[in-house]
Parts: sequence; C-alpha cells; structure tokens
Amino acid sequence: MEPENNIDYDALKKRGFLRTRQKGYFALRTRMPAGNYRSIDLEKIAQVAEKYGRGIVHLTLRQGIEVPFVRFEDIDAAEKEIQAAGIQLGTSGPRLRPTTACPGSTWCKTGLIDTFLLFDRIENEKNIKCAMDLPHKFKIAISGCPNACTRVQVSEIGIHGAVNLKSPKKEIGYAVYIGGCGGKNPRIGFKLEKIFTDNEVLSLIARVVEFYKNNAKPRQRLGQLIEEIGQNAFLEEIGI
Ligand code: SF4
Repeated sequence: MEPENNIDYDALKKRGFLRTRQKGYFALRTRMPAGNYRSIDLEKIAQVAEKYGRGIVHLTLRQGIEVPFVRFEDIDAAEKEIQAAGIQLGTSGPRLRPTTACPGSTWCKTGLIDTFLLFDRIENEKNIKCAMDLPHKFKIAISGCPNACTRVQVSEIGIHGAVNLKSPKKEIGYAVYIGGCGGKNPRIGFKLEKIFTDNEVLSLIARVVEFYKNNAKPRQRLGQLIEEIGQNAFLEEIGI
C-alpha cells in the first residue's frame, strides 16, 4: 500500500471509494439511475463483495450499495470489474450526490408523477449529474406524491407530485422544497407556493443548482447560503 500521505483520498471519494475505519480498507459505493438495479447487477455486486471484500453489502440511504473492506491495492481491479458490468460508482465529498427517486406512478399506487422520467430529464436534458463538483454536498430528491418517501423536505431540492388545487382542472404538477439538509445541523427546506409544470420544475432545478455553484462558499450548504442572503433575495435571484 502507498504511504498514507501519498493517497489522494478526495480523488478516491470522487471515484466512489470511501476510507473506512479499518486502515488500508475502503468501501466501494455504487449508484444506479433512480435506484433501479437489475438482478444481474446485484449478482455482479455480490461477486465483487466476495472477491474483493468480505462478502458483505450494505444499502445506503441514497439508493446505493456499499461493498466494505476493499483493500487499497484492489481498488483499480474492483472499479474495472464493476464498470465493465455497466454498474456506476457513487461519489462523496463536495459534489452532487445521487438523486433519489421513489417508484412514483411507475408502480406505486399513490404515485402522481413519473419520478423516473423526471430523474432522467434532470440528468440528461439539464446535465445535472451525480458527482458534479459543487461547493459542498448537494442533494436532490424526487417523490411521486405528498407522502414524500424520499425525504424531500430535508434535501437541497426536494420535489413531490401534487394536485394543483388552484387550477380549474385540478392538474397534477410538482411541489418543490428548497434549502433542506440532514447532517449535524439539519434543516427543513421551505416550500414554494406554486405547483410547477414539468418544464418549469426542470428549469427551476437548473437555476437553483447554477446559483448555488456560483455563489456558495466552500463547505456552505444551500440552506446556509439562503439564510445569509435572505429568502426573498434568493427567490428573486432564481426568478421566482
Ligand atoms: S412518495 Fe408516494 S409515490 Fe413515492 S413511494 Fe411514497 S407513497 Fe409511493
């Protein structure tokens, strides 16, 4: 193993390998779009856990799978094997974390919106992808209905499907929370008054991420930035 101080731990975090409590060992972290793993992905992850870890996998809150106890020397080989199977690695550090989505209207009986489609549009139309470098950690969560199973209120941007009671036809749209977070100093995000359409919500997400990227100080979370500049000034900046 490399001498400890020669290891770029942040670069390894970005690649999805997190230092563990046990010296010389890392946890490999995976992700999948909207948390949808195929059975063959799970077989491959199980093989990697047997080969490079200790046969243990752990499910993370952001819909990733961790394989702990990967030795530093095995990182490149484990990464190659996972990626060759089409499985993406997760990330950590000051970046966009995997966006989480519940099943929404795809199979949950109370789902109002297509959460997987919104996930796809955020990543592929707006290019807001996991591991994007940002001033600090930043989380987006999507829930199909107001039950908010993906904890939208404690994410930097949280979206859930909602019925727009003010619209004549009671259309279905997107409710949005902004500025929440978990961690040592948790915050509940504030809810915007409007129910947005799909294109409006996509544009809003892009504006918030861009504003955060350009204005936050290193290690400042979105909620802290909003507190510093004031909620009204923030809303004006993002065009609300
Ligand atoms: S948030 Fe609603 S749609 Fe999503 S899993 Fe929970 S109950 Fe189902």
